[in-house]
Amino acid sequence: MKWSNMYAPTLRDVPGNAEAVSHGLLVQAGFIRQLHSGHYSMLYLGQLVQRKVEAIIREEINGIGGQEMILPTMHPADIWKQSGRWDKMGEIMFTLEDRKGNANALGITHEEIFASVGTELTSYKQLPQLWYQIQIKFRDEARPKSGLLRVREFHMKDSYSFDVDWDGLDKQFDAHHDAYLRIFKRFGLDAFGVLASSGAMGGNSSVEFMVECPAGEDDVIKCPKCDYAANVERGTSVIPKIVDDADPETYERFDTPGVRTIKALEDAGHEANKQLKTLVMVADGETILAVVRGDHQLSLQKLSDQIGGPSELRPATPTEAKELLGAMPGSLGAVGVKGVRIYLDKELQGRTNMTTGANEDDVHYSGVNVERDIECTEWLDLREVQAGEECVNCGGQLDILRCVEVGHIFKLGTVYSEALGLNIANADGSTSPVVMGSYGIGVQRNMAVAVESNYDDKGIIWPMELAPFEVSIVPVKDDEETMAAATSVYESLLASNVDVVLDDRDVRAGVKFADTELIGIPLRITVGPKTLANGEVELTERRSGETQNIAVDAAAATVAEMVAAAK
Ligand SMILES: [Zn+2]
Repeated sequence: MKWSNMYAPTLRDVPGNAEAVSHGLLVQAGFIRQLHSGHYSMLYLGQLVQRKVEAIIREEINGIGGQEMILPTMHPADIWKQSGRWDKMGEIMFTLEDRKGNANALGITHEEIFASVGTELTSYKQLPQLWYQIQIKFRDEARPKSGLLRVREFHMKDSYSFDVDWDGLDKQFDAHHDAYLRIFKRFGLDAFGVLASSGAMGGNSSVEFMVECPAGEDDVIKCPKCDYAANVERGTSVIPKIVDDADPETYERFDTPGVRTIKALEDAGHEANKQLKTLVMVADGETILAVVRGDHQLSLQKLSDQIGGPSELRPATPTEAKELLGAMPGSLGAVGVKGVRIYLDKELQGRTNMTTGANEDDVHYSGVNVERDIECTEWLDLREVQAGEECVNCGGQLDILRCVEVGHIFKLGTVYSEALGLNIANADGSTSPVVMGSYGIGVQRNMAVAVESNYDDKGIIWPMELAPFEVSIVPVKDDEETMAAATSVYESLLASNVDVVLDDRDVRAGVKFADTELIGIPLRITVGPKTLANGEVELTERRSGETQNIAVDAAAATVAEMVAAAK
């Protein structure tokens, strides 16, 4: 590519509305432009990188037996109703009506669609299968932000595995796990797998791949001593058991005028870890109670996952809470409450002499014996882990890291094959539903995270495998000798299949250097009369800034070798 022909609209400054490093740099360096909130155009440079991201994914997924397909983006509502997810997805799924009044969805994921293709599988002899696509998906995000990190329209690789049994699924899951780690490494990312909530995807277990990143939206529990890592929405920890040494009391009412918070009650002499925090929640229209220790936070996702994943789970309004329990938030409790599902956090098992709201404004109970006084529906792990608590595997002190999710793999089991009638005949003549897995990687999100992990004050530093151009050639003068040498190196590199751009623009050398650095091209060959006098050109590495002189005749071969070695 000759730069003078290229549309690479670099900007002098980072745009003022940039919410993340990658957002700012990708706009400033001319890779992307926003059409409207959550929808981005990939300009030429952006598309060059996207193609490389996709090529790496293809190579690795083909390497574990993937067969590429392309399934429709727009789906009939019926197929989503068949799986029960039409309602479950709620507002996050774009829906639209066609001219006949039929409801449709813009694909947010493709489990149902791949399963429907899979219904033509009839025999165990046809399995295993691994199918995938690189496709556009839509999500109606409430708040799209941070450039390519949270969008409403995005490209994704999603693969789906089909097996006779769980052993087969385990193998395909492990193969994806390893392929994903290879993919992220090639993207220049330091990614690690964490236990995750399967959320609306259903199924039995899932692993998210995370990269530490301040622009991320996930908190990850990580043990520095062993390999334990989990999303806070899923993970757990060990905390010291509290022994109530006082004799168990009978619960007693006491007035607490104006005391409406854990803190206020603490100030009144009741330690937070001896209080019960009662949260009134609405799960698909049903009001339920969740109770955790006063100094703990309820994890909504953990609650949701353990009560069957309701479509809607939200805190009750003060009015709803009062309707159910007779008091406003601040004086609520579960003691004596009947006919309501009450979920208690496991840390409350065996606790006595606790304090809680009495369901009358400005009144509390003391001396509550949790197991005796509260009608527990089920003990669950409901609390959110805090940094510094102990690892469940090794006792190490847990860290909590801000991360961005770069991939997610799910063991779906038979949820979708049962819903869509995807059954096969086994060797013994019996019939059973196919065991499925699903595996996703966001293409453009990974492009953005690669920038988040690889930049400096001059701009982006692409890893060689993702760079839009591997080498830029910058003639610093436009005299005949300089241009002839630059063009000769350029043509030799092209002949060696190196992705090279010749900066033949009529602009100052400083502008050329700045653009090459901002765009993040890994290698720069500077050609000018000063070094040419010695038969040499200058080679500069973007990441280290190191410069060396090399013979002009050997430049193309040397650089082609460096490019190959860096991939
Ligand atoms: Zn550990």
